[in-house]
Amino acid sequence: MENMRELFYNKCNDLISKKRNDNSFFLSAEKYNFLISEVNISKDKANKQRNDYRRLKRYDVLNILGSNKLIVPLKPGETNIKYYVKNEELFDIIQQTHIQTGHGGRTRMIKELQCKYKNITYEIVMLYLSLCIQCQTKQKAPRKGIVVKPIISSELNSRCQIDLVDMQTCKDGEYKFILNYQDHLTKFIQLRPLKSKTAEEVAHNLLHIFLTFGAPNILHSDNGREFVNKIITELCLMWDGVKIVHGKPRHSQTEGSIERANQDIQNLLRAWMYENNTNKWADGLYFVQFTKNTAYHEGIKQSPYEAMFGTKAKMGLFSSSLPRDKLHELESEEHLENIIKNMNSENIDRESLQESSDADQHDNNNTDSENIDRESLQESSDADQHDNNNTDSENIDRESLQESSDDEQHEKKISSTF
Ligand SMILES: [Zn+2]
Repeated sequence: MENMRELFYNKCNDLISKKRNDNSFFLSAEKYNFLISEVNISKDKANKQRNDYRRLKRYDVLNILGSNKLIVPLKPGETNIKYYVKNEELFDIIQQTHIQTGHGGRTRMIKELQCKYKNITYEIVMLYLSLCIQCQTKQKAPRKGIVVKPIISSELNSRCQIDLVDMQTCKDGEYKFILNYQDHLTKFIQLRPLKSKTAEEVAHNLLHIFLTFGAPNILHSDNGREFVNKIITELCLMWDGVKIVHGKPRHSQTEGSIERANQDIQNLLRAWMYENNTNKWADGLYFVQFTKNTAYHEGIKQSPYEAMFGTKAKMGLFSSSLPRDKLHELESEEHLENIIKNMNSENIDRESLQESSDADQHDNNNTDSENIDRESLQESSDADQHDNNNTDSENIDRESLQESSDDEQHEKKISSTF
C-alpha cells in the first residue's frame, strides 16, 4: 500500500508539472493556504470589490475543530459541504472511496467523489485506478455482447431471483455456497452463506428475508424449475401465509448478466479478504452486500439502496459533511454538539448586525453560509464567469476528457463488471 502511495505521487507530480501553474484543480498545500487567507480577507472586507465577490463565489472557508477547510460556498438551503482537496490528501481520499465502493470503476468513483469534493479530476482517478493491483487482477466473466432487456416489474409482477454461487473450492468452515437473492425492480441484493444447497436450507434463509422485507410474487432461478418448486414447497411449509409462483425460464441472453453478477460478488469478496487478511468470506458477505447495494447502478440511475429505501445509506458520521480527518477526534454527542454550535456561531459572526435577528432561525442549520452567498449572488451575478457548479464541473469534465483518450483503453482493461 505504501508503495502504491509513492507510485501515485510520483505520477501525480509528473502530471501536475505538465499543467499550467494557475490550474484550479491541483492545490499544493501552499496554494491551499494562500487561498484560505485570501478568502478570509475578502470575507472581512467592508468594501468588497469585484475580485472579492468572484473569489467568494467560488470559495468559502469553514473552521472545523480548529482547522480551516476550503469549501464551495453553500447555496441557500444547501447543507452538503463540498471540499477542495489538497494534493497531499488526494491519495487517501481516492483510496478510501475506491475501497468503500468495492473497487469501483471510473463511473462509480467519479459519482461518489463529486458528492463530497470539488476538485478531484477524472484524470487523477484514472491514475489511481491504473495502480490498483486488485483491479488489475480482477477476473472477468465473459460478456455476451447482447443488451439485456430489464424484466419489467410492477406491483403484480414483483419478482426476485435466487442464485447459488459455488464456493466448494474455497470453503469457509462449513460454508460452501452463497445464496444471492435479488429484487428485479430495485436490484437490491441479499447474500447469505450456505452449508448446503438443499431446498430446505435455501428456504430457511429466504424466510428470514421475506419476513423482513416482504415476499415477491414470482421467484426465478437459473438453477432450474424443479429446484425453485422445492424451495417454494419448503417455504409454504414454514409459512402458510405466503403464496409465490415460480418464474418462467428466462432467455439465454440474461445468463451472461447472472454470470457477471456472480463473478462480481466473488471479486468483491476476494478483495475484502485481501484487505482484511482473512479467508472467512462468510463474514465478508455482508460487507459485499452493503457495497453492492450502496453503489450507483447504471441501469436504475441510482443505488439499489436508494431504490429500495428512498434515501442514501448512511455510514454514521462518515456520511456527514464533517471532514474525515477530523472525525477520529469525536467520541461523544456533547462533542458533536459543540462542533455544530461552533460552526453556527462562526457564520453568525460574519453576518452583518442588522440580520442578527434571523440568527435563531439558522441555529438548526449546521453549516449555513446563506447570508454570504445571497449577498454575493446579488452583486456579482453579471460579473462572474462561473455561474454555478454545473459550469464548473463541466469545465472539469471537458478538461479531463480531452486528456483522457489514452486512458480509455486502459479503463477497458480494468473496468469492473458492475
Ligand atoms: Zn481496485
